[in-house]
Amino acid sequence: MSVDPTIPAPVPTDFIRDIVATDIAASRYPKIVTRFPPEPNGYLHIGHAKSICLNFGIARENLGQCNLRMDDTNPAKEDIEYVDAIIADVKWLVAGWADHCLGFKPKGATATLGAVNGQPDYYLAPVPPSISSEPFFASDYFDQLYDYAITLIRKGQAYVCDLSPEDTEKYRGAPDHPGKDSPFRTRTVADNLNLFERMKAGEFPNGARSLRAKIDMASPNIWLRDPLLYRIRHTAHHHTGAKWCIYPLYDYAHCLSDYLEGITHSICTLEFVDHRPFYDWILESLGLPRALPHQYEFAKLNLGYTLVSKRKLLQLVNEKVVNSWDDPRMPTLSGLRRRGIPASAIRQFVTGIGVTKFDSLTEIAVFENAVRQELNATAQRRLGVLKPIKLVLSNLADDETVECTATNNPQDENPTVRSVMLTREIFIESEDFAEVPPPKYFRLKPGGEVRLKYACIIKLDEIVKDASGTITELRCTADLTTRSGQPNSDKKVKGTIHWVSASRCIDAEVRLYDRLFNVAEPAAQDDFLKVVNPNSLEVVTAKLEPSLANAKADDRFQFERLGYFALDKDSPEAGTGARLIFNRTITLRDTWAK
Ligand code: ATP
Ligand code: MG
Repeated sequence: MSVDPTIPAPVPTDFIRDIVATDIAASRYPKIVTRFPPEPNGYLHIGHAKSICLNFGIARENLGQCNLRMDDTNPAKEDIEYVDAIIADVKWLVAGWADHCLGFKPKGATATLGAVNGQPDYYLAPVPPSISSEPFFASDYFDQLYDYAITLIRKGQAYVCDLSPEDTEKYRGAPDHPGKDSPFRTRTVADNLNLFERMKAGEFPNGARSLRAKIDMASPNIWLRDPLLYRIRHTAHHHTGAKWCIYPLYDYAHCLSDYLEGITHSICTLEFVDHRPFYDWILESLGLPRALPHQYEFAKLNLGYTLVSKRKLLQLVNEKVVNSWDDPRMPTLSGLRRRGIPASAIRQFVTGIGVTKFDSLTEIAVFENAVRQELNATAQRRLGVLKPIKLVLSNLADDETVECTATNNPQDENPTVRSVMLTREIFIESEDFAEVPPPKYFRLKPGGEVRLKYACIIKLDEIVKDASGTITELRCTADLTTRSGQPNSDKKVKGTIHWVSASRCIDAEVRLYDRLFNVAEPAAQDDFLKVVNPNSLEVVTAKLEPSLANAKADDRFQFERLGYFALDKDSPEAGTGARLIFNRTITLRDTWAK
């Protein structure tokens, strides 16, 4: 096993990658296998992207594999809708980057213990993702987990406890004083086997009994005070149906799922540090034949102005603060995708901030810069006017067209160009005109001159108003000799503004987004619903240059001077003539910086 030599430097480094490198140097594992294990109780968010890119990144750099596993041990909160969304989001985020490392298994298959000479079986050989394959489900291991529980009971390391959930909690004690042994702790193995089997058979109601590990009620680590392994839940499961009425707890299922899949490095966030002794206890107590996985913890991503908790994001959806999980204002991967943010920008961001052992708050500007950098390099420049005001070039004839040359992306090595037509009537941005200009106003003002981008300099002659005093149009003179290639092309004016031809433009719905919260740490508020930004969405009817009628879903545009834009997924198809819908992905500059 070796590091992938085809991956160009710089390859990220951090304390977890150092551990992996040490394990490789010591030939500790035949192959590096990581996993990303979301619980399907909501949609993935930008915090999960950090974990995905870390786990897939390590697999990719070391010619390894990363399994997508649904950690689906709690049927009450889980749903197949979330399973499907998680699969789509992970595939999108790693596409073209690490999808070759994504571990899949034959559909419906469950683990076969020690199948090949005590070595892990097919889990180490990814099958190509296809209709006959699927990601991993912890619930596929329920049979094995049940067998392992029987083993623990036989070894005298697990017992059936009849304490109510409330009493179990009371007996546990607190970090500063020891717990108390359950009166059921001394049950015989035979009694425990009998009761556990009857729990499985559905003889007892929810909460009547549980299966607990027998460890140490006086341990300073509260997670070692006879933690629960199984509880009774008469609830159908989205993946296993009505087969089970006892469900394993997360901590018990997680380490064993890792083991069954041949995971080498089980990477999770810091809140699991105290759970690690229990993770190791289970694996070591069972005397398992293969190499054991090890757990490593890193700091979560916390991002300014953003919630990173599925539970809280669900609240935003349920309380209709946003329209859906994939509302472009949501920090979900589906929301960010719909907003037009490229997967590569998210990967760049979460990799760039690094992996540490200390919790911190990352400024939203760091994320926004990553998005701008990516889009600046790739987006096609176009002209569009969001809040139009009509401008008449009085010295052009009604049917006159002046062909102008516009650059598609000046960042390209060999930029291509297109034509835009200047006509007698055009639209400019209403904000680019001031009847009573403030000091140092370099856009259009009475008697003033500006350059129309890619065209020529114009001079404002007259402001036309209707009876109510509302401005209806601006009358200007165009100096066509100031166009590129014309004698006065180098004449300088201080302002340049964007425009579109009134007779040659399309109308489009454009959705302008702002931060969803007014404060940097919404999660730290008593009620984050009280700090929702009421102006996070503005919808306008924009005038866009006609070439945008052919926009495709994957296209990324910079509307000059306005920001980066992409088609919304609900937009009608290009070419149908129906009004397109664009989302503003991000403005050109940080408008909050002031
Ligand atoms: P949430 O509170 O949003 O439900 P979670 O940690 O409970 O988050 P899981 O579905 O268990 O959600 O997460 C799957 C993986 O993603 C876990 O390994 C978890 O540690 C990791 N993860 C979750 N949130 C973050 C985050 N903000 N930053 C980095 N990793 C995260
Ligand atoms: Mg969780």
